[in-house]
Amino acid sequence: MGWTIPLWVIGAAGGLGLLRPLQTRIRLERAKPLSLQRNVALARRVARLIPAYALEGDRFYRCDGVPEEVAAARRAGLERLAAHFGAHAPRSREITRSLKARVSDAQFTDAHRVPFPFRDHVRAKLPLGAVVAASEGCQVRDADGNWAYDLSGSYGFNVLGYELYKDCLDRGFERARELGPALGGYHPVVADNAERLARISGLEAVSFHMSGTEAVMQAVRLSRYHTGARYAVRFAGAYHGWWDGVQATPGNQRPPRDLYTLRDMSERSLKVLRTRRDIACVLVSPLQALHPNKAAPGDGTLFSSDRSVGFDRAAYTSWLRELRAVTRERGIPLIFDEVFAGFRLARGGAQEYFGVDADLVTYGKSLGGGLPVGVLCGRAALMSRFREDRPGDLCFARGTFNAHPYVMTSMNAFLERLEEPGIRDHYDAIHDTWDRRAKALNDALAARGLPVRVGNMASILSVLFTAPSRYNWLFQYYLRAQGLALSWMGTGRLIMSHDYTDDDFAAVRDRFVAAAEAMEADGWWWRGDGLTNRAIKRQVAKEMLRARISRTRSV
Ligand code: PMP
Repeated sequence: MGWTIPLWVIGAAGGLGLLRPLQTRIRLERAKPLSLQRNVALARRVARLIPAYALEGDRFYRCDGVPEEVAAARRAGLERLAAHFGAHAPRSREITRSLKARVSDAQFTDAHRVPFPFRDHVRAKLPLGAVVAASEGCQVRDADGNWAYDLSGSYGFNVLGYELYKDCLDRGFERARELGPALGGYHPVVADNAERLARISGLEAVSFHMSGTEAVMQAVRLSRYHTGARYAVRFAGAYHGWWDGVQATPGNQRPPRDLYTLRDMSERSLKVLRTRRDIACVLVSPLQALHPNKAAPGDGTLFSSDRSVGFDRAAYTSWLRELRAVTRERGIPLIFDEVFAGFRLARGGAQEYFGVDADLVTYGKSLGGGLPVGVLCGRAALMSRFREDRPGDLCFARGTFNAHPYVMTSMNAFLERLEEPGIRDHYDAIHDTWDRRAKALNDALAARGLPVRVGNMASILSVLFTAPSRYNWLFQYYLRAQGLALSWMGTGRLIMSHDYTDDDFAAVRDRFVAAAEAMEADGWWWRGDGLTNRAIKRQVAKEMLRARISRTRSV
């Protein structure tokens, strides 16, 4: 009997000692997303298992079981598109062919425009020109002289319109000419840029880099330096540049061991932040407000019609406020990655738009006034790269072309233009303007019974498909044939510049509707009994299994 009490006490103490780490672990696991994003090693293994296969011949047109007459309409439609592109863009296609022979990026984007089972036939039938020779207003011209409304946004850099950036470049180059490309000392304009950026960001210190990726690298590195903690937190789906330290997705050959991917907009993630001591920073990309927890929507992965986007400003604002409160309470630096969303949502960026202050903010794209750039703004204490009391303890960050004179002078021209009354007024109206335009487009589509809609956050639009189909990815070709220029991601992200007038947008709306009508008429959105998104996924899974078992490329 004398034994039982000490044993019980020891057992309980031991149990508690084990229980706490177990609880912490469970809390972390519960905060991870329920998709493959929770485990990058597993995601990579699964990705490697996917066999290449092609839907060829009749299967290309009838993999959803349409009757022969619908397949014939589809064939005729594809031939018409092929004839159109062949006749209109021979020179652009020729240049693109030689580009693809040498430029790996051109090969990559060309191979990922459409879901891979359709790729071979589409590349053979509809090779696209990937060349732009001129821009004017919100249009771009290819090498054959065809003008198209630009819905690509130049990867999001083009917020205020090409003409404004051309002016920034002219002014910038004029001011930098005397110094030329001399590096090492700062062009006098750099001090003014730093002042202006401090005002915009509400933060004291600034560093200049060459890309958004580098600005994020530096933000995370400084956070680790100052907190002494190991793990960065990113939220599921968010892209923070191609540095492997923040890319927990297949495509990165060195999956990070010091990054947690947690659920966006989730109380479970807040719980993790409240209780763990190993967190160096939390990265937020406000662009995710359009599709929380999901990666950028591209047509290369558009297998069915279940793409979803939806921007809820109130919900995202309250999430950011909670996140701000918890990170402040725990002394965890909160990083806003505004490389994409920055000057698109408000003149003062996402901080101003959502009314939340971050500790570190990254900018890029538009801020360079037309040249490549990355900028980090931060609280002075967090931005320091050395310690007065420990001279050997540094946070190293240099880069030959940081604060390049031509970039700095073009940036200065951009920052000056942001202050102009016309631009200030324009920012007051952007959300109403783009919500109204997106609604007008949706109304026009609904009035014609077309199974297409758009979702938007300001001038960032994403195309949604309301009826199950395996062929939605083809819509990008119908849009292009109507003179609408898209990025290689296709319909997932349409990025509009703010110099679009209502008349420009009306022209885009009409072309967009005409493209949808043509695709509908060609039978690609045939609605057969039993065709659901679920059934499509099951069908794709079966095709993959068959390809894996038979190890042939044709199913
Ligand atoms: N962060 C975000 C949110 C981005 O959208 C991007 C680029 N799309 C980057 C970082 C990386 O910027 P860059 O391409 O200039 O390296």
